[in-house]
Amino acid sequence: MADVVLEDVNKEYDNGFKAVADLNLEINEGEFLVMVGPSGCGKSTTLRMIAGLEDITAGTLKIGGRVVNSLAPKDRDIAMVFQNYALYPHMNVFDNIAFSLKLAQRPKAEIKERVHEAARILELESQLDKRPAQLSGGQRQRVAMGRAIVRRPRVFLLDEPLSNLDAKLRVQMRAEITELQREVGVTTFYVTHDQVEAMTMADRVAVISGGILQQVDSPMKLFNEPDNIFVAAFIGSPSMNLMEAVVHRLDSGLSMQLGSQTLAVPDSILAQRPGLERYLGSTVAVGLRPKDFEDAAIATDHPVDQRIRAHVSHIEALGYEVIAYFGIDAKPVISLEALELTEEQVAGAEHRVSRAHARFHPTSTVRPNEAIEVAVSMENAHFFDLETGLAIRG
Ligand code: ATP
Repeated sequence: MADVVLEDVNKEYDNGFKAVADLNLEINEGEFLVMVGPSGCGKSTTLRMIAGLEDITAGTLKIGGRVVNSLAPKDRDIAMVFQNYALYPHMNVFDNIAFSLKLAQRPKAEIKERVHEAARILELESQLDKRPAQLSGGQRQRVAMGRAIVRRPRVFLLDEPLSNLDAKLRVQMRAEITELQREVGVTTFYVTHDQVEAMTMADRVAVISGGILQQVDSPMKLFNEPDNIFVAAFIGSPSMNLMEAVVHRLDSGLSMQLGSQTLAVPDSILAQRPGLERYLGSTVAVGLRPKDFEDAAIATDHPVDQRIRAHVSHIEALGYEVIAYFGIDAKPVISLEALELTEEQVAGAEHRVSRAHARFHPTSTVRPNEAIEVAVSMENAHFFDLETGLAIRG
């Protein structure tokens, strides 16, 4: 095991494209760190630099305290699992797992012991004589993991290892890989575009966009305290609703004016986010998660000054909750960074209507085309500076 430290790491490709800029990131010893971001944001480039498959243009990469910038991949003591884990079709599972050890000319008895240990951890013991074609997709994925584990590397690198599997198997393998990582305890860097995968598997998640690291934190912290609009919009499913609001003072606390309506921000909330005072008379972005809305017909005790009128366009009754889609008379947030993530909201921009979605209690009886009142838990609201995109807190 070893930690992995990237200091001011940059990657510029030969064509001049800057794929990663000034990346500072520490993957602690034994940690499961997931890097997540949209397609083309520089995730694979980062992983490939750690693996030694891509040169580092500037900056320092350390594994276990040692600078490895110019060390060949085979000397870095890492093991990789890719999206397209090509198993050798003519070899059985044992030989596939044993391949790298045979290549390294390890003694036969040691190879046997290590392969059986990997097979035990991966529950592949009864499959060792089979060829890849005789295995299920999940078993093949486990063989690919076995090939990595058997080398007892100091660092695991996984690049979208689940993206070729069907949805059900992906969920199962998510749990299996997480358990495996805990059992083996190897420092792991895992790359995915799927934020649910990141949130469910990682000790910490690194969110990256356009080659720039946005935030590194535990899944819960990312969800509850996103540092900027990009992270707020990217993390969470269904995603956060982001609308523009003008900040006004009330007798007690502040109010947020969304279009023709206002939502109260009580003193208690203001005490946690005193920075909002600086925005009096200005427009900010208000972020509200779907879970922080409720059908006001159910939340009858909710303060009247924390309710908003909405027009329902569509509902999805899932049995355990009702997802309601509605329009609110408020300008949607169209920050450049959030653009690709909020296409739906952008669609309504010219009408100054925000298309929002909420998770209502399953007993909600709201119907499409209905005008409703929505209770808003303002204590959970997020506020962002529209120019910088940064969260407004202190
Ligand atoms: P995806 O999930 O789609 O693989 P990613 O976040 O892993 O995306 P990278 O593969 O790291 O993205 O690529 C980051 C950017 O660098 C992309 O815009 C890509 O087009 C560009 N890029 C990748 N390889 C090269 C290369 N060899 N030469 C020039 N540009 C490249």
